Amino acid sequence: MVLRRSVWVWRQGYRAYSDAAVRRATAPITETKTGLTSLPDPTFDTAWKPLERFTPCACEGEPEADFSPCASHPFPPVIGRKIDHTADMRTSKPISRHIVACVGHEGPEWSKAKVEAVKGGMIATVADIRKASIRHSREDGDRSLDALMKQFKQESTSIDAESMPVLMIGEDWMITVADRPRNSSKVQSSWPTADILILPDMLLYPSIDPSSSLAPLLHHIHSYPVSEAAPRLPAPSTTQLPSPVDLSAQGLETIILVCTHTQRDKRCGILGPLLISEFRDKLSQQGLLRDASNPQGKVEVWGTSHIGGHKFAGCVVVHQRTGGHLYGNIRPCQVPDVIERHVLNGKDVLMAARSVAVLGGGISGLTSAYYLSKLLPTATVTLLESTARCGGWVQSTHDAGLTLESGPRSLRPKGVSGIMALDLIRDLGLKDDLVAIPPTHPSSKHRYIYYKDTINKLPSSASGMLFGAPSIMKSVLRAGLTEMFTSPKAWTSIDDDESIYDFCKRRFNEHVATNLMGAMIHGIYAGDVQELSVRAAMPLLFKSELVFGSVVRGMLQGAGKMEGFRELGMQARAKGEDPEWFETMSKMSVVGFANGLETLTDRLRAACEQQGVCIRHNEPVEKVTIQHKDVKIETAKDTLRVDHVISALPSTTLDAILENHRLPHLSHNPSVDVVVVNLVYDTPHLVKYDGFGFLIPHPLSKTYIPVPGTLGVVFDSNAMPAHTPEEKKSTKVTVMLGGHLWDDCFITSIDQTHPDAALSKSLEAVEYFLGIEQTPALSATTLQKKCIPQYLVGHHGRLRQLHQALQEQMGHALSVTGNSYLGVSVPDCIKNARMLVEDLVARGALSKNPQEVITGLSAMAQDVDADELKDSIRITKGHGRIVARS
Ligand SMILES: Cc1cc2nc3c(=O)[nH]c(=O)nc-3n(C[C@H](O)[C@H](O)[C@H](O)COP(=O)(O)OP(=O)(O)OC[C@H]3O[C@@H](n4cnc5c(N)ncnc54)[C@H](O)[C@@H]3O)c2cc1C
Repeated sequence: MVLRRSVWVWRQGYRAYSDAAVRRATAPITETKTGLTSLPDPTFDTAWKPLERFTPCACEGEPEADFSPCASHPFPPVIGRKIDHTADMRTSKPISRHIVACVGHEGPEWSKAKVEAVKGGMIATVADIRKASIRHSREDGDRSLDALMKQFKQESTSIDAESMPVLMIGEDWMITVADRPRNSSKVQSSWPTADILILPDMLLYPSIDPSSSLAPLLHHIHSYPVSEAAPRLPAPSTTQLPSPVDLSAQGLETIILVCTHTQRDKRCGILGPLLISEFRDKLSQQGLLRDASNPQGKVEVWGTSHIGGHKFAGCVVVHQRTGGHLYGNIRPCQVPDVIERHVLNGKDVLMAARSVAVLGGGISGLTSAYYLSKLLPTATVTLLESTARCGGWVQSTHDAGLTLESGPRSLRPKGVSGIMALDLIRDLGLKDDLVAIPPTHPSSKHRYIYYKDTINKLPSSASGMLFGAPSIMKSVLRAGLTEMFTSPKAWTSIDDDESIYDFCKRRFNEHVATNLMGAMIHGIYAGDVQELSVRAAMPLLFKSELVFGSVVRGMLQGAGKMEGFRELGMQARAKGEDPEWFETMSKMSVVGFANGLETLTDRLRAACEQQGVCIRHNEPVEKVTIQHKDVKIETAKDTLRVDHVISALPSTTLDAILENHRLPHLSHNPSVDVVVVNLVYDTPHLVKYDGFGFLIPHPLSKTYIPVPGTLGVVFDSNAMPAHTPEEKKSTKVTVMLGGHLWDDCFITSIDQTHPDAALSKSLEAVEYFLGIEQTPALSATTLQKKCIPQYLVGHHGRLRQLHQALQEQMGHALSVTGNSYLGVSVPDCIKNARMLVEDLVARGALSKNPQEVITGLSAMAQDVDADELKDSIRITKGHGRIVARS
């Protein structure tokens, strides 16, 4: 029951992300691009900011419980006693827009506890439209958007078909009335015409008539992007709609709305007017208030109906063009503080001059520093890297006009991680440097596994599977068919897990587990299929069984499109910046750079420096000491004191340097050692297989492996042709050795292994497996110590405990990212670092008054929600259709 409830709450909160996703997808994509940095959803900051919870300016008598009365600003004590000064203040869901119907003092909505109960009124009409659309959305489950649109159109003539998909998912608006007078020049004779104020965009639509112009207006609002930096303004889509007045163009910078809704709650009803009068007084004194006597004023203050959280009265929303912001527990004594800190200096003043240290200059650390300095330019960001270069495992070298990769060579542009990697590439201006391998390219279609003395080509199509499948595929078709009807495992706890081997053996058979999956795991993790967690290392398999009851059924029904709602929102937002390019790129099999992946980390480093990040090379962090709010970082050269640390180090390194604390499990997972040998032969086309490369099965396989310890060989000349210029006609391959098979390959540890020994092992492998006997014209051997972390069975549960320990022990001082936690691929590292930084910034965790603790592992606080994942496929498919049509 507890689990079900937490899942429900989580779904409610995140459903809005899907709304944002589909809304952006349906927004006119021909709009000019803002090109501006946007903060993550929601732009409306729903973490209620208490400032310091009620510090009276003139304390009167003894404080009662948590409430201290103020001599200068007295108000009835009964109100104080009922007001909650203790609980966490936060709203239940993200808010993208605040829609305010300006009904004046005379609006009939004020007479009811629920504004939507005033039939025929503006709010009631909006609520009706929304309720109907949401009801249709919920009831219709898997029905296609087309059918929904048709039905809705039949039932609701005031909404055109195009509006349907956006209205259907519109849940992330706050809708209230305000006592701002209606536009006097355009007052209509009949109630309930009202001016509609769209915040934080600062747009005013005068004299909106709910019966005719409200639906088109809602459609119009939905097409606005959610952008903290600069909401853009599309042209009205219908002639029924009046042009909006851009209040910010008229010099209005801030609108303060204070809940004064007595009928809804007495606390706001009594405290609200006191606050309004204090705000107006103080603003007036500074010449800031806009009123009849000062039409040039920059700030308006109005009463609003209920905005939620009345137990935290006084409830205040401050809107500026950069975003909305909720404050709770505000007292008249604090009004000057809100004016000083927020109205005059912008809300980021709460985060200004914060100092953050990013530890580690791999792709994760660089991405963190990049987005942090971009989203929070006022922060001081220092990146500490132990070596002379940034990039970590991303390492490209150039020799004789060729590009050699000793670490990652290509990125998969799929899913949210792939899109985030592409978005970063686009943002850094590297679009033109990108080399994309389409799915039709032989290296995309042809993958090989060594089995029974031959290199077997895996079928790339259903017909290839049925006809002429190689020996390695013989029992696979039958296993796949049986798998569809094999009952899913009944997981007993939220952290249940099993090895990839056990999972595949249970659902398919031993052959699939050792030969196919064993080989694939060698290619990704250089790891042991018997040791690695299916849940953490192959989440798609795990989720497919959970959601569809079968991996094969999952694949057939689009399991590859499963994402959380937040991830859908992130993808849609990124794609909206350059839809055509993303559409093309995300169809690619892999992408890379002609000059190697280091192109990306080099540019990232330069961009970080340009944005003011101080990058300190050759400064290994030796000690991190966190005591309450004192965060000390020690290197051999210096001691730094910062407000927050982002560790993008391997978790074992963090474990070793963290003083006074024992965070659990940081050193639980081992990392494997891998030898990477690049070989270049003068003769072209020495490899007779036209594909990406081949992998070696797990040792449990009955197949004999002539060079034990070989993980696989990449046929570089095919896999990334751009790395070998046309005039350099040659054959290039990369041999990977070691990983969990290290002891099968080498008799010494990596520290004692000579590169020449590794080179000769790789030449042996090339000769045995590919029949290449020539001496290479060029070779580069790299011994990569502890380079790929192994997510052992139970990783998910351990991360959950680590997340809790970080929250409890480290408060707001430390967050973690990097390949030790939530994915090893470069795109995963980029996505996770970006999500961490977005959370830190958007949720105010770097502010002087942080509310929410952000650890970098917040995904661990949520459970996999099968319904949401299914919904996400439906939305992704529907959204694809909408984009295609528009
Ligand atoms: C051989 C190989 C091939 C791969 N192939 C692919 C691929 O094709 N595609 C793909 O997507 N992924 C691939 N990966 C995975 C991917 O490259 C890595 O998981 C990713 O680069 C890790 O980045 P990171 O920033 O999290 O960690 P790292 O790259 O490990 O960065 C950590 C940084 O911290 C620094 N550091 C360590 N200790 C300290 C200290 N005390 N103080 C300061 N700094 C310190 C290190 O020098 C390093 O720069 C591959 C990995 C390897 C090893």
